[in-house]
Amino acid sequence: MLKQLVNEARFRLRITTTGPLLVRSGIPTVSGPDMTPVLTFRNGRQEPFLPGSSLKGVFRSHVEKIVASLRPRVVCYPFTGDEKEEANLEERRRTYRDSCGESFNREVRNDDQRRRQLEARTDEVYARSCPVCRLFGSTWFIGRLSIGDAYLVSGLFRERRDGVGIDRLTGGAAHGAKFELEVISEGVTFESTIHLRNFEIWQLGMLFVVLQDLEDGLIRIGSGRSRGLGWVKGSIGLEEHEGWPGGFVTATIRGSDTREPVHELWGVGRWLNERPAAGGEKPGWGRYGTWHDDFLALPAGVERRPRGIRHLRVFTDEVLAQLREEAIQHFLRRVQQWPDEAEIAPANSGGGRS
Ligand SMILES: [Zn+2]
Repeated sequence: MLKQLVNEARFRLRITTTGPLLVRSGIPTVSGPDMTPVLTFRNGRQEPFLPGSSLKGVFRSHVEKIVASLRPRVVCYPFTGDEKEEANLEERRRTYRDSCGESFNREVRNDDQRRRQLEARTDEVYARSCPVCRLFGSTWFIGRLSIGDAYLVSGLFRERRDGVGIDRLTGGAAHGAKFELEVISEGVTFESTIHLRNFEIWQLGMLFVVLQDLEDGLIRIGSGRSRGLGWVKGSIGLEEHEGWPGGFVTATIRGSDTREPVHELWGVGRWLNERPAAGGEKPGWGRYGTWHDDFLALPAGVERRPRGIRHLRVFTDEVLAQLREEAIQHFLRRVQQWPDEAEIAPANSGGGRS
């Protein structure tokens, strides 16, 4: 999608343990929603960190459940090809649509022409991707969200436990005992940078929903979650970091942002200003599958401030609370407005398949 950068959002996520967190040393990070903090050599000593890719997996699976409970068959099924899930196939089909990546794969299988066409049509891939793939990415789309590794910023960082005890705690595989297992204690804080490019307003809302649940301590990370481990709390960092102010910060590129009124925040749908083609298409749904009314009115007192090539807007306290509420309303509305699978099937794309 969009070669140029039209908007960005950035903030520091602080994650503080409110109970013990398991660390494994010397094991590569696991992919998927089960996150294991790992050790690295930093500041002259061994330190645990939370891999960004793993945090992303945890947040993604949290959001998948939320969207699926708001409205079935909007978000795609996250783990295709897992035949162990066969028993729940019926329930799965009621809850999720087919995996976005898998359905694109199916469409181009044995059709190189269509493959090349679809690979070049990021607008079509974006339009037909489910809300979670649009933000977090899929095999066909890189996603809008990047989450950096979360490094230790404060707290007594670990205590050693004997391997046998830990093995019992995790219920892990027998080979687990071969590795050094340690526990990060309560009250340890990590920080990571979260960055969003070319966002739609509802995507901010989706992120704020995760953030709210982190603040409320409803998301757990690490191994042994089923054994009551991995409780954390999250919040937005308020200190300046790497030249960016604290709080929730949005940005546009100076000179290219003159169309956006100072009292409005535009999502990428408003920047594209897509109007539905005459006849047939879902009202408000453009070529990229965005909405032209993708913007919100800003609370008073949020000014653009120049910084290098960017204009920044900084949200903290009251104005941040208002932004969160409005963006979450966008998120709820868009999930309800999301087209059914049939409406965004390839027949509508003008791809010319027989
Ligand atoms: Zn998807």
